[in-house]
Amino acid sequence: MAITSINPATGELLREFPPHSPEDVRDRIEQAQRAFLKMKDTDFETRAAWMRKAADLMEADVDELGKTLTLEMGKTFEQARAEILKSAKVMRFYADRAAEFLAPEELDDPSSVGAKKAYTVYEPMGVILAVMPWNYPIWQVVRFAAPTLMAGNAALLKHASNVPQAALYLDEIFLRGGFPEGAFRSLLISSSAVEGVIRDRRVAAVTLTGSEPAGRSVAAIAGSEVKHSVLELGGSDPFIVMPTADLDEAASMAVKSRTINNGQACINAKRFIVHADVYDEFMERFNRQMADLKVGDPMNPGTDIGPLATSSGREDLIELVEDARSKGADIPVGGTVPDGPGWFYPPTVVTGVTPDMRLYAEEAFGPVAAVLQAADAAEAVRIANDTTFGLSSAVWTNSDDDVEFFTRSLDAGAVFVNGMSVSYPELPFGGVKDSGIGRELSAEGIRAFCNVKSVWRN
Ligand code: NDP
Repeated sequence: MAITSINPATGELLREFPPHSPEDVRDRIEQAQRAFLKMKDTDFETRAAWMRKAADLMEADVDELGKTLTLEMGKTFEQARAEILKSAKVMRFYADRAAEFLAPEELDDPSSVGAKKAYTVYEPMGVILAVMPWNYPIWQVVRFAAPTLMAGNAALLKHASNVPQAALYLDEIFLRGGFPEGAFRSLLISSSAVEGVIRDRRVAAVTLTGSEPAGRSVAAIAGSEVKHSVLELGGSDPFIVMPTADLDEAASMAVKSRTINNGQACINAKRFIVHADVYDEFMERFNRQMADLKVGDPMNPGTDIGPLATSSGREDLIELVEDARSKGADIPVGGTVPDGPGWFYPPTVVTGVTPDMRLYAEEAFGPVAAVLQAADAAEAVRIANDTTFGLSSAVWTNSDDDVEFFTRSLDAGAVFVNGMSVSYPELPFGGVKDSGIGRELSAEGIRAFCNVKSVWRN
């Protein structure tokens, strides 16, 4: 079946591509393996020069590539441009820092292990497969590819089936930067063909960003081959508002954190847990600003929210909201599917959410905010942790006691105090519980696909 690129704002077919045949896939894995043998003998400075050139080229393509992303998956053009510029930044970050992150580490006292000298080196693992989602079609891939290539590995990408134009752009960008042919290759394949690639003996490890079922499947296959996997599987992040918070700032960041990327980011705030003492004041601000957002053509500079990326994604969101409505939730903002073409869904606030509603704990991948009330900090934490996810979290408070309590008590890979969850190249990124295994970005992200080799010498 052809892999298609469809404009989610109109439903129009933009392009279609034949999938790679099993022979094409075998050839691309072989190219990647050959490229790895070259890559592992290059030094950091050489790879850094290629990476910086690729970053420059991507930055120069920002308008054209941004338009492709907007047309292919519906994020606003402004946010598409920001994604591309952030991707160039992470490429430069690893070009600058890889040698430091992977420098050999010498034991201070080698005699403690009976050696004259003992040290650890970080070596590349080989060909790494990345299975990636459509929501940040460039960033998600580059935050994997930049450290992985800088470590001296080669990479294969199986991108989401609805973003083939992004996949084909990425297929060339590292080659254009100067990396050896095959060092980074896209595979246009369906998810059912992923198993064969993971099991290929030339593929050393795999990473997946996407849904929990996809992650479980990929990790199970990798496990059965005794291959390393890193998983980033989304979340249902809490956004907690306490009485000492600056409510104006908290409300405007709550809106941004729920709706950025049309509400389709793993670290969007999804469940808003508001202390009873400030509930009415916060909700007045939050509802007003959610209702004011402009939904429409994502190429239009005045648009805040474009369409959802897929028809099935909108169906999932409708089901979650209708489930809550049928169980007695209130919907003061949004909640009505608009007529007309495209997979639009309005910014929506659902209040009175109770544990029997799916929105209480599940991930809403679109601009739908589930709101809950808490009597105190302990109840806020109990609700926040009452989900199978644990990606990131945010707390709004000006009390030091609150900060100490929440940072210690929240089951999450990150806690943001008086700010919204954002990924930074400098900070490790990843989750606990069903949100994933392992970390991306920072030194952790580049070491993830390295063989940590101990050397003992006498
Ligand atoms: P998926 O997890 O289905 O897709 C992500 C990637 O995994 C795609 O490349 C997909 O390929 C691939 N994939 C899917 N199933 C398998 C499998 N069994 N084996 C190997 N690869 C697989 O996400 P969806 O696009 O369907 O979105 C569904 C939900 O996933 C969202 O509602 C959201 O909850 C979550 N999600 C989380 C993201 C995050 O950033 N953590 C990003 C996107 C989604 P193909 O496209 O060909 O199916």
